[in-house]
Amino acid sequence: MSRIKNSVCKMCRRENMKLFLKGDRCYSDKCSFERRPYPPGQHGQSRLKFSEFALQLREKQKAKRYYGMFERQFHKYFVAADAQKEVTGTALLKLLETRLDNVVYSMGLAGSRREARQLVSHSHILVNGKSVNIPSFTLEKGDVVEVCEKSRQMNKVMAAIQGSSKRTIPSWLEVDHGQFKGTVKDLPSRDDITLAVEENMIVEHYSR
Ligand code: SF4
Repeated sequence: MSRIKNSVCKMCRRENMKLFLKGDRCYSDKCSFERRPYPPGQHGQSRLKFSEFALQLREKQKAKRYYGMFERQFHKYFVAADAQKEVTGTALLKLLETRLDNVVYSMGLAGSRREARQLVSHSHILVNGKSVNIPSFTLEKGDVVEVCEKSRQMNKVMAAIQGSSKRTIPSWLEVDHGQFKGTVKDLPSRDDITLAVEENMIVEHYSR
């Protein structure tokens, strides 16, 4: 599995928003973005004018980094969303949001999306009682996601559940931390997706 090797905190500073890539640290005063809320580098604090292309690119990068993806994979999601009847930008966000790794994180069963991806690919997660080790697995309404029994005492799972009180569980998910499980109550609407991104600009970027 490929890994993002850059400093993840620099990504937040580059995108000018918290992307919540480092688990508990993101909710503490150690968060780099809280301390230096401007882009990294020598000209980070200069006022720059951005072209239309640069603005669209930043919106795309923001979403791509938030969901922890590489370009090729992210573009595949765009193609899949474009083939749907729904507005492409909304369909894209819904597809990304219903990925198994994102749902495991959103349910508070992992400290970050990166950690969630690792839990899934190491077969610690069950969907409807069966082991699924594909982080990009798309969940449907009614699917039940849980940490398999032998993995429930893992430090990272316990820490994530304890730390999840600092986060808001999306209303389209129902979670029972005592049972280490959650259910996809409904598919998310655009209003349920908290990522502050202008998805129409992502569509414009790929449609150039
Ligand atoms: Fe981003 Fe988290 Fe780093 Fe803060 S601590 S800059 S939110 S990854």
